[in-house]
Amino acid sequence: MDDAFIVGGGFSGFILKTLIPNATIITPIHFPTPTLSSGMQQRHALDINKICAKKSKSFGFLKFAKNTGLHDRLIIGGNSSIWGGFIDISRLDPAIVEELSQVGLFFSRLTPKEIGVSSNRSSYRQLHDSFGRILDTSLFLEPVRNSYLRSIKVEKGHRHLKLIDCEGSISSDSEIVLNSDSILYLAPGVCQLIDILYNSEILSEGDRLEFDEYKMKWVLGWAYSNKSPMKVDDKNTIIRYFPSAALSHAIGLQKAPRKLRFLNVFGFFLDQVYLSEIVTSRFTITNGVLLKELGGGGFGKSIHYFNLRINGTPLNEYIAKHLPNTFILGMASVVQTKPGPISNDIVLQAVNLVKAHRKVCEL
Ligand SMILES: Cc1cc2nc3c(=O)[nH]c(=O)nc-3n(C[C@H](O)[C@H](O)[C@H](O)COP(=O)(O)OP(=O)(O)OC[C@H]3O[C@@H](n4cnc5c(N)ncnc54)[C@H](O)[C@@H]3O)c2cc1C
Repeated sequence: MDDAFIVGGGFSGFILKTLIPNATIITPIHFPTPTLSSGMQQRHALDINKICAKKSKSFGFLKFAKNTGLHDRLIIGGNSSIWGGFIDISRLDPAIVEELSQVGLFFSRLTPKEIGVSSNRSSYRQLHDSFGRILDTSLFLEPVRNSYLRSIKVEKGHRHLKLIDCEGSISSDSEIVLNSDSILYLAPGVCQLIDILYNSEILSEGDRLEFDEYKMKWVLGWAYSNKSPMKVDDKNTIIRYFPSAALSHAIGLQKAPRKLRFLNVFGFFLDQVYLSEIVTSRFTITNGVLLKELGGGGFGKSIHYFNLRINGTPLNEYIAKHLPNTFILGMASVVQTKPGPISNDIVLQAVNLVKAHRKVCEL
C-alpha cells in the first residue's frame, strides 16, 4: 500500500491505524493556548467535558451558533476519553474482532454485576483495555505527529496539508505535501471536519449541511415496580445502567470502582433508550457562522449524528469531487443502520475503505 496519512486521534483514527500500522497519524496531543493568536477562536458551546476526565477546549476558525447541538472534543483520544465504549458485534467480521483483540482490546459482555450495565441486545459489548478500563484510544496511538490540520490545498495534483504544529508552548505553521498516490484519511470528528473543509474552501457561504440522528431518551426505573422488563424483540434499543455505572459514566470514570457496587442493591436503574425514529437537522453557513436552520431542540442528545450531506450530496461523494485520494471516516461519513452504538458502523466503513485501497494497490 502507498503512503497513508490519518488525521485524528479518536476512535476512527485508532481503527485506521490498527488496519494500516505504518500510517502516519496527525493529531494534536496538547493544544497550546497561544494558538489563539493565529486567528483561532475558542468555542465554548461545542465543549464536552466530564468532571473526572481530561479537559478539552474547542478551537477553530469557523464560528458555530450556540444552539447547534454539535460537540467537539479536540484532544488526543477524542470522545473515547469520556464515552461508553459500547459496540454491536453482530455485523462485524470475526477477523476484525480478532485483529482488535491482538492490539490489546477486550470485547466484554454487558453484565449487571461486573460492568453494571445490561441491554436488550445480546450482541452488545463494551470495549476495554487490559486493565478493565473503557477504551481510551489515546493510550494506543503513539507515536503521532503532534499537529493540527488547518486546511488542504490541491496544486498540480499534490495535496498540501497546512498544519499548525503543537510542540512546546507556542504553535508554528508547517506543511506536508502528499503526492497523488498517497492516501489521506480524515478522521477529525464532526465539527473539526467542517472546519477543515471550510478553511480549504471546499465549504463556503450558503452551503447547506444535513445530519440524521436516532432519537434518544433517558428513563429512570426501579426493579420492584411493575414496569415490564427489557424486551429482546423491542425495536428500540436499551442500554441499562445500574447506579455504579451510571455514576461513573456521568463523572467520566473509565472504570466503575468496586466500592460503588453497593449502590446497585436498591434496584434503581437508568435506561438509555434509542428509538427507531430518525430526526434530521439542517445547518447553513451564513456570514461565516454555522447556523441551525431546521431541527428540534433535542438534536445532538445522543451525540451519534451521522450521514452528513452537503447541499444534498453524501459526504464521501462530495469530497471525491474536491480532493483526490482522500476519504473521510467518522460519524459524519457513516449511515447508521440501527439505533444504538455507532462505533460498529465506523469499524465496518474503515474495513471496507482499507480493503478497497489494498485491492487498487494490488492491480
Ligand atoms: C459522552 C459520549 C459517549 C459516547 N458513547 C458511545 C458509545 O458507547 N458507543 C458508540 O458507538 N459511540 C459513542 N459515542 C460516539 C463516539 O464519539 C463515536 O463512536 C466515536 O468516538 C467517534 O470517533 P472519531 O474518531 O470519529 O471522532 P472524535 O472522537 O471526535 O476524535 C477526533 C480526533 O481528531 C482530532 N482532531 C480534531 N481536529 C483535528 C485536526 N484539525 N487535525 C488533527 N487532528 C484533529 C481530535 O483531537 C480527536 O483526537 C459517544 C460520544 C460521547 C461524546
